[in-house]
Amino acid sequence: MAARQPPPTTAPRQTSDFDAVIVGAGFAGLYMLYRLRGLGMSVRVFEAGGGIGGTWYWNRYPGARCDVESMDYSYSFSDELQQEWHWTERYAAQPEILRYIEHVADRFDLHRDVTLETRVTAAHFDEAVNQWNIMTNRGGRVSARFCVMATGCLSTPRVPVFPGLEEFTGSWYQTGRWPHTDVDFTGQHVAVIGTGSSAIQSIPIIARQAASLVVFQRTPNFSVPARNRPLDPAYERRVKASYAEFRRQARESRVGFVVPANEQSALAVPPEERRRAYESRWQRGGLGFAAAFSDLLTHAKANATAAEFFRTKIRATVRDAAVAEALVPTDYPLGTKRICVDTGYYDTFNRDNVTLVDVRNDPIAAITARGVRTQAIEYACDSIVFATGFDAMTGALLTIDIRGRAGRTLRQSWADGPRTYLGIAIAGFPNLFTITGPGSPSVLSNMIVSIEQHVDWIVACLAHLRARNLDAIEATANAEETWVAHVNEVANATLYPLAKSWYTGANIPGKPRIFMPYVGGVGAYRKKCNEVAARNYEGFHLTG
Ligand code: FAD
Ligand code: NAP
Repeated sequence: MAARQPPPTTAPRQTSDFDAVIVGAGFAGLYMLYRLRGLGMSVRVFEAGGGIGGTWYWNRYPGARCDVESMDYSYSFSDELQQEWHWTERYAAQPEILRYIEHVADRFDLHRDVTLETRVTAAHFDEAVNQWNIMTNRGGRVSARFCVMATGCLSTPRVPVFPGLEEFTGSWYQTGRWPHTDVDFTGQHVAVIGTGSSAIQSIPIIARQAASLVVFQRTPNFSVPARNRPLDPAYERRVKASYAEFRRQARESRVGFVVPANEQSALAVPPEERRRAYESRWQRGGLGFAAAFSDLLTHAKANATAAEFFRTKIRATVRDAAVAEALVPTDYPLGTKRICVDTGYYDTFNRDNVTLVDVRNDPIAAITARGVRTQAIEYACDSIVFATGFDAMTGALLTIDIRGRAGRTLRQSWADGPRTYLGIAIAGFPNLFTITGPGSPSVLSNMIVSIEQHVDWIVACLAHLRARNLDAIEATANAEETWVAHVNEVANATLYPLAKSWYTGANIPGKPRIFMPYVGGVGAYRKKCNEVAARNYEGFHLTG
């Protein structure tokens, strides 16, 4: 198929309201703002929420916490910042992360360029003058040479679609849109729907508060203990003494933080040695389990040994054998859905006030005035918590009416699934950048490492354009085609596509099934991006 190349641009220069508009004020949008200011650009950030912080502004459910260690999950761009900030725990909780983001915004005076409570509804590229016209839900309209979508991969929660919700006489909550006032379940009968990471973090806490808790599980997840604890001061001192080297290693790693990796196959060692390796990771706690052997995510038999280790742990923890069996994942390889990180999750099912309802064979049919009804039984409750996930990676982008060359919409371009060049740019959409877009390592990594890498790359690219008096950059269709093929090829060499996960869009009815993130690893991806830049932005058309 002949690839369409963008026509050379001879558009007259026109003054835009801003050099750049950024959509979203989470970690990505705020760092983008900081760096673009450094280039001397005029910038406006639009944020739908009533505050900055993105994920950590919206997800205030009980137990919301990072699953990447706090010394890793933080900005690296300012040594003063990383030296002065003190994390209190191994894994930071949501309020502390939000305080950190507010601290960063104050320290670097970012608030003044952020417009809150303003949702971008449309972004249309005007080919005649090479600029984006951006419309908001408040009737605003601004123009900008560049538009950066920092809209987040997990920022569009799935709206509960159960029939009858409007009849429910109790209160209901969504983990991804948690109220900003205290929610107290004391003495209540509570239902939680879902058993993903958000549910697994909140269930143990809700169970301790509520009179009773019913957990509706459709697919069991693999969860590893967090072993959270106060941050060890000696560890903090050690990291701070060589933070630059610590960050360098993270940037070059596979997932954006360093875990001891074992280059052996799980099948190359005797069963007892394998068990010891798994046990030591289990005792260490947190992510990094998948690095216990080199082939856990590429070899089904190797993976099965790790999955069986988890099952043994679940059976050993949960006293009721039938409940334990229901909690045991069996129908997808370990790690092909994001491994959850918990504090006391499985043990919660030993409590007298907690009931597990397996809805695989008896799905939730409706919400009634009194509670949740499966096809067979009605469960009365005072409150329902929907922990039902997100329209991940593409949801926030496709909610905006984005139109590129010749008025072609992003929805049209992505009708068969998202297509990008490097997860950063899209053919037919000049001067538009996506931070941690589909086709980048994004959600498979420590996202702050990926965010900083993307932002730094985009800033270098804009500086390059300016130095050459250019005003437009666009991915070529050829480069996009080649990148998409590479992303698919790498994913298909792993076990990831075997799970019905949000990585593949399988959690959203009708969403095209494509493995969206890039599995090639953060370090390798960074190299590739740097090579593209060094070759005068190979795969892009630069014009002006
Ligand atoms: P976000 O934080 O999602 O920010 C995007 C912002 O854009 C949002 O505030 C949103 O309101 C705004 N926005 C979207 N569309 C529009 C629009 N049209 N107009 C205006 N504003 C808009 N990652 C990790 O690496 N480690 C973790 O431990 C981890 N834990 C997580 C826990 C939870 C509960 C969730 C949901 C995600 C977690 N993540 C984690 C992923 C997390 O999303 C990223 O780490 C990071 O916070 C993403 O930052 P961001 O700025 O790219 O996106
Ligand atoms: P999720 O992993 O997509 O989980 C959603 C849950 O809702 C699943 O158990 C799903 O079941 C269930 N569900 C959806 N529709 C249902 C229905 N109709 N009936 C019954 N169950 C239904 O979403 P999440 O828990 O919000 O996590 C999303 C991602 O955010 C994570 O993978 C992670 O990347 C990030 N996150 C991280 C942390 C952390 O530890 N730091 C915490 C929260 C979130 P099925 O599996 O059967 O579809």
